[in-house]
Amino acid sequence: MYCPYCRNEDSRVVDSRLVEDGTAIRRRRLCPACHRRFTTVETTSLSVIKRSGVAEPFSRTKVMSGVGKACQGRPVSEDDLSKIAQEVEETIRAKGVAEVDANEVGLAILAPLRRLDQVAFLRFASVYQGFESLEDFEAAIADLRAQPGPKDLPPEGEQRPLTAR
Ligand SMILES: [Zn+2]
Repeated sequence: MYCPYCRNEDSRVVDSRLVEDGTAIRRRRLCPACHRRFTTVETTSLSVIKRSGVAEPFSRTKVMSGVGKACQGRPVSEDDLSKIAQEVEETIRAKGVAEVDANEVGLAILAPLRRLDQVAFLRFASVYQGFESLEDFEAAIADLRAQPGPKDLPPEGEQRPLTAR
C-alpha cells in the first residue's frame, strides 16, 4: 500500500504484533522514500450476505445507522451506538467465519440493544423479527418483564432519565 505521507508505493515492515484478542495484526511500517512510519491493521475480511444474496463488507456504520433508527427520541448517545456496533462486530468475528447472513447481524444486535434501551429494542425486534400483531408485542414485553436486564432495575426511588443525555 502507498505511504500515506508521500504516496511512495513501497514500505518496509519493521514490527508485527497480534492485537490482544488475536483477531488482527498490527504492522509498523517504514517508508524508504520519506523515512516516516505508519501503522496498518490487518484483519480477515468479513462479509455480510444480504437477503438478495449480495455480499457486502461488514460495516459498523451500517449497524449504527440501523440501531440508530430504532433509538430515535430515546436517551441513547452516539457513543452507545458505537459500543453496540463494536460488540456486534466482536460477536460475529468470534464465530471465526468469513461470511455471515444479514440475519445473524440482526440477532447479534438484539442482546446489547435490549440491555441498552427496551423501547428501542422492541422497535428493532418488531421490524427485524416481523411482528405482525399486538400479541407479538405482548409476548416480547412479557419476555422483557420476565428477564429484566441490569439497566432495567434502577435503585429504589430512582427514575431512568427520559430525555436525551
Ligand atoms: Zn513516504
